[in-house]
Amino acid sequence: MDFNLSPEHSAFQQQVTAFADALPPNRDDDAFHEAVRQGLTERNWIALAWPKEYGGLGASPLQQMVFNEIMGYRRIPAGSMGTMWVGPALMLYGTDEQKERWLPRISTGEDVWCTLYSEPGAGSDLAALQTRAIRDGDEYVVSGQKIWTSGAHRSNWGWLAARTDPDAPKHRGISMFCLRMDSPGVEVRPLVNMTGNHEFNEVFFDNVRIPAAQRVGEENRGWYTLAVALDFERSSIGSTSGARRSLDDFMALVKSGKAHLTGQTRNRLVDCVINAQVLRFVGYRIAAQQEATGTAPTLLAQMAKLCAMELNQRITSMTMQVLGLSGQAHPAESEFESYTHGFLRSVANTIEGGTSEIQRNVIATRGLGLPRG
Ligand SMILES: Cc1cc2nc3c(=O)[nH]c(=O)nc-3n(C[C@H](O)[C@H](O)[C@H](O)COP(=O)(O)OP(=O)(O)OC[C@H]3O[C@@H](n4cnc5c(N)ncnc54)[C@H](O)[C@@H]3O)c2cc1C
Repeated sequence: MDFNLSPEHSAFQQQVTAFADALPPNRDDDAFHEAVRQGLTERNWIALAWPKEYGGLGASPLQQMVFNEIMGYRRIPAGSMGTMWVGPALMLYGTDEQKERWLPRISTGEDVWCTLYSEPGAGSDLAALQTRAIRDGDEYVVSGQKIWTSGAHRSNWGWLAARTDPDAPKHRGISMFCLRMDSPGVEVRPLVNMTGNHEFNEVFFDNVRIPAAQRVGEENRGWYTLAVALDFERSSIGSTSGARRSLDDFMALVKSGKAHLTGQTRNRLVDCVINAQVLRFVGYRIAAQQEATGTAPTLLAQMAKLCAMELNQRITSMTMQVLGLSGQAHPAESEFESYTHGFLRSVANTIEGGTSEIQRNVIATRGLGLPRG
């Protein structure tokens, strides 16, 4: 396989790099996020790989990979739930009116979506979800609770899975809806994670009315739509560039003399570098295969995603081992704040989007055809 980029992809790489380098330096303030949103919108890069008719650029998988790598390496938030899985699921299962209504506004970043799947009693066993949607004329009335809803406090739309037939077998009584997050009866309560950040939420529904026209796909067949949306979520490419950045930053710290390796931690560091490099090539292979055949090699992409998440945890725990007690100081009081924060945040890597165990189950049964354990 030829890993060199074509002249067209190299030119695109330069354009994206120039854009990224020109962003304001302070990542924490609103000006930075607004500059990212505005810049991506102006260039039609928010939904880069979407077809042009829905507001994308129709970019090839390799172009998307180049883009993801640059943004991921610089930790610029460029992907969204709307572009990565809600929009692609709507393209497959939405009516023409639904596509016209929602897709263009996702591709410009005007609408921000959250994902309303998990509940206190339904995470890995998502089909056990209990939030009810009861048909009432031209509407559904929704009651129940979701949990761990990332970004619900910043979203104006929610991609909701709810039970429409409580008597059917659990996978057959679920429907998918698009819900305005400012609908009367929706309450978003913050959950602060152990890094001190407000990233996710609990969301409560008290007799929330959703027009029936906002149901996506057939009633009670939502599980299949949801499963495809989960495939989109778990098949993202280019997800190792953040890990490579963490390794580069850490090696710079070691070379500056602020962190000291032992023989053992040096070996762990080298192992992580090797793994990151291998995963980078796997990412290019996935994109090249997708480019050649038109379909994503889902199994390989899921393996890559699982390995990338676990690699990130190995990197952050290796940095903590090297930094010792100074890495364990409270983030607010430590010069190694970003490493401490990275370590604490990485715990969620093997839970969010489906736990490692569940992803291994999916790879074993759907990908490798192994019998259920
Ligand atoms: C940072 C973060 C962001 C998230 N964002 C969202 C979001 O935006 N929207 C949303 O809907 N959800 C979100 N989630 C929820 C996430 O999808 C669930 O936490 C995840 O699916 C696991 O479900 P659970 O927490 O209920 O754990 P459980 O399902 O209770 O699992 C507990 C443990 O049991 C293991 N286990 C369970 N079943 C099996 C099995 N069959 N075989 C082997 N092991 C098993 C699991 O692997 C895990 O280790 C987010 C979670 C995190 C951490």
